[in-house]
Amino acid sequence: MRRLLIAGNWKMNLKLDSAKALAQGLKDAAAGVTEVDIAVCPSPIYVQPVAEILSGSNIGVGAQNAYFEKAGAFTGEIEMAMLTDVGCQYVILGHSERRHIIGESSELINLKVRAALAAGLVPIVCIGELLKEREANVTNDVNRRQLDGSFSGVSAEDMKKCVIAYEPVWAIGTGKVATPDQAQEVHADVRAWIAERYGKEVADVVRIQYGGSVKGSNAAEILSKPDVDGALVGGASLKVDAFMEIINNVKAL
Ligand code: PEP
Repeated sequence: MRRLLIAGNWKMNLKLDSAKALAQGLKDAAAGVTEVDIAVCPSPIYVQPVAEILSGSNIGVGAQNAYFEKAGAFTGEIEMAMLTDVGCQYVILGHSERRHIIGESSELINLKVRAALAAGLVPIVCIGELLKEREANVTNDVNRRQLDGSFSGVSAEDMKKCVIAYEPVWAIGTGKVATPDQAQEVHADVRAWIAERYGKEVADVVRIQYGGSVKGSNAAEILSKPDVDGALVGGASLKVDAFMEIINNVKAL
């Protein structure tokens, strides 16, 4: 049985005071939640203060990106070991904003996935098609290509530790949500890809989150689909009430 993982991606939002207040508010509000795993991913500069607030709580902390190299001359980058050093357990990799705005390739993401695993972090690896790709009926091809590239060389044991986030690009921050059936169809194909490459035992344990305009009112319907194992949440993770509404509406699933 896979536990749901509800993760908040705070993106480039909040300032020190509001990030700390959100962390404290969630810590208090989610204190009794045992049914699902919860994580928040602040801006890298606020990871440490947020991790300090959430230390010992039921809310994990993740980063939104990091570099694959070990310590050295990489100006502006963050090493995976620096994340574990300040209390991170997760790192989002290959978010569509990094693939499409910053220009990250699956090859680069793959180096980061392997570095994250080597550092003991849980990579949340994002995949997803553009609207024009969905309209051209190549959704599964695009996602499988991103999976092939992002997980190249990852062993079965390491694959079990990874989380995949299916985030149709056309649904991120747009208010447009994939229907539960659209999400399930892609999630089932992602799980089939895992089974083809790693076998059923691995496919059965890897969590596949859905992301794209998830909020309290639509979360339960999407997450009740058999291959949807959680949500990666942007906008609705920035307010205690909105994030808690998602958690409270799915914790009994
Ligand atoms: C995201 O940032 O991964 C995301 C899904 O954003 P939103 O929930 O705002 O669509």
